[in-house]
Amino acid sequence: MSSKYFPYSEHICHHVFNKGGCNFCSFHLMKNCVSATPVPIKQMIQHFDAFISDQKNYQDILKNGRLSVEPQGSWFLEVPKGLRHHIYRFVEFHGLELHSQCRATLTNKKKVQTALSISMKAKYGPDFDRDLLEKNVQATLESFKTELKPYMLISTGLEVANNDDLKLINKGCQLSDFVSFSRFIRSGGAKLGANVLMAPPLVLDSVRKALKTAQYAFDVLKASEIMVVSCIPRIGSLGHALWRQGKWNPISATESAEIYWMIKDWYPEKTVKLDTMRVYCFHGKHGLKIKTEKQKISARKKVRKIAQEVFTSS
Ligand code: SF4
Repeated sequence: MSSKYFPYSEHICHHVFNKGGCNFCSFHLMKNCVSATPVPIKQMIQHFDAFISDQKNYQDILKNGRLSVEPQGSWFLEVPKGLRHHIYRFVEFHGLELHSQCRATLTNKKKVQTALSISMKAKYGPDFDRDLLEKNVQATLESFKTELKPYMLISTGLEVANNDDLKLINKGCQLSDFVSFSRFIRSGGAKLGANVLMAPPLVLDSVRKALKTAQYAFDVLKASEIMVVSCIPRIGSLGHALWRQGKWNPISATESAEIYWMIKDWYPEKTVKLDTMRVYCFHGKHGLKIKTEKQKISARKKVRKIAQEVFTSS
C-alpha cells in the first residue's frame, strides 16, 4: 500500500526494447509482468481507479500530498494520453503533487521517432500508426508542454554527468539531451528531478563523479530535487555479470551515506533524497571491504576531501 502507482500496461521502456537498456538496469525482466498484448485505455483507467479506491492507498496519497506514478519507462511515451489525463484530473481535484519520470531524449524529435518506430512496429506490425511516428511528431512533442503544470515533478535518469560515461553505461542520452529536457520541463512550469547514480558499472573515480553529477543537476540543469542512488547488481544486467566476475564493486554503504550528507550540506536549500532501498549494505563483494570503525572513518574522510575539491572548484 502506498502513494506509488504502477500502471498496468503492455509498454516497457523503449530504450530497453531497442538498445538493451542501461547497463545497470534489469527492466527487461519486467517483460514478465507487463501485458503481452495491448491493454485498452478503459482497462488501464479501471486499474488506476481500483488502486485509488483502496482506502489505505487513498489515505497515503492524501497524507503525502503526492501521487507518484512509476511507469515501465517514460511518463509521456509509455503512459497513454487517456490515462495521463485521467490522472491529471485526479491530482488536480485533490490538490496533489504528481511525480513521475521520463527519459531526457524526449525533446529530441529524431531519437523519439526512431525509438518508438522500432518498438511500436515490432509490437504492433508495420501498419502501426501513431502521431509520434508520422509527420506530427514535432506537434505532439510540443503538445506535451501544454500538459506541464507547477504541481508536477518529472525526474530524469541523469546518472552520471559525463558524456563518455553516459556512453559506457549505454544511457542513450548525452548531456545536451539533459540540458534541452530540463529547459522543456521548467519552461512548462513543472519541476525537474534528477537521479544521481553512485558507482555505476564501468565508471571510474565514482565518488567524485557522483558529487559532480549532483552539482551538474543543481547548477546546470536547475533541478529542484535529486535522488542519490547506490547502484547495485541487478540480475540480468551487464553490471550483474561484471560483479559476479569480480570486475565491478558497488559503492559501500559508508561512502554512499557520506556522499548524500555532503550534497545535503552543500545544497541546504534543495531537496536531496537517498534511495535507501538500494544501499549496498554488504559493502561490496570484491576488493576492500569497509567493516571496522577505523575503515569507516577513513572512507568518510576521503569522501569529504573529494567533496571539498568538487564543490569549491569553479
Ligand atoms: S532509461 Fe531507465 S528504465 Fe530505461 S533502461 Fe535506462 S534505467 Fe532502465
